[in-house]
Amino acid sequence: MNYDLFRKSGDACIVNLGHPTKAARVFERLYGIPIVRPDEIGKYGIVMFSLVSFRDFESVARIAHLKTEGQEWIAGGNAATNSVGINWIMDYVWIGDAFMAMREILSGLRDHPSMLKCSDIHPVSYHNEPIFQDPISKSEILLSKGCVRRCLFCVHGFREDYMEHSSQKE
Ligand code: SF4
Repeated sequence: MNYDLFRKSGDACIVNLGHPTKAARVFERLYGIPIVRPDEIGKYGIVMFSLVSFRDFESVARIAHLKTEGQEWIAGGNAATNSVGINWIMDYVWIGDAFMAMREILSGLRDHPSMLKCSDIHPVSYHNEPIFQDPISKSEILLSKGCVRRCLFCVHGFREDYMEHSSQKE
């Protein structure tokens, strides 16, 4: 896949907050988005965040001073589905799966039911994709997504349905 074909609003990177997520590594491999250290984000027009826990919100706050004029910050990931702790610094938050949607996001997709515009908070809907079939790496594949327990206190505000490769639904 040629990332240059759909890059529009400047080079994009994914910032490494200390633990590159599986999703970040897939985006790097599929779309050529580099995973960079916080002190390297200044040269990119779009800075993406893959957030998996509320503790990542503190990491975001620690690097907020690195955001440059005109730079676009976009967050995704499980923790971002409950985005109140990051809306103040993000431009957009993608709510839901993005393995496939990332192509459109890189192409400039911002007006979408699952894209929260942080300067204009509005209801959003969860973007639910099938289990991503491609290997994460040479030794990792996704066998399921979601969680069977659906705890009310879960970081994942939408608590998506559990799916496995074999059944695709619990
Ligand atoms: S639903 Fe409960 S068990 Fe599942 S990930 Fe969330 S907190 Fe953990």
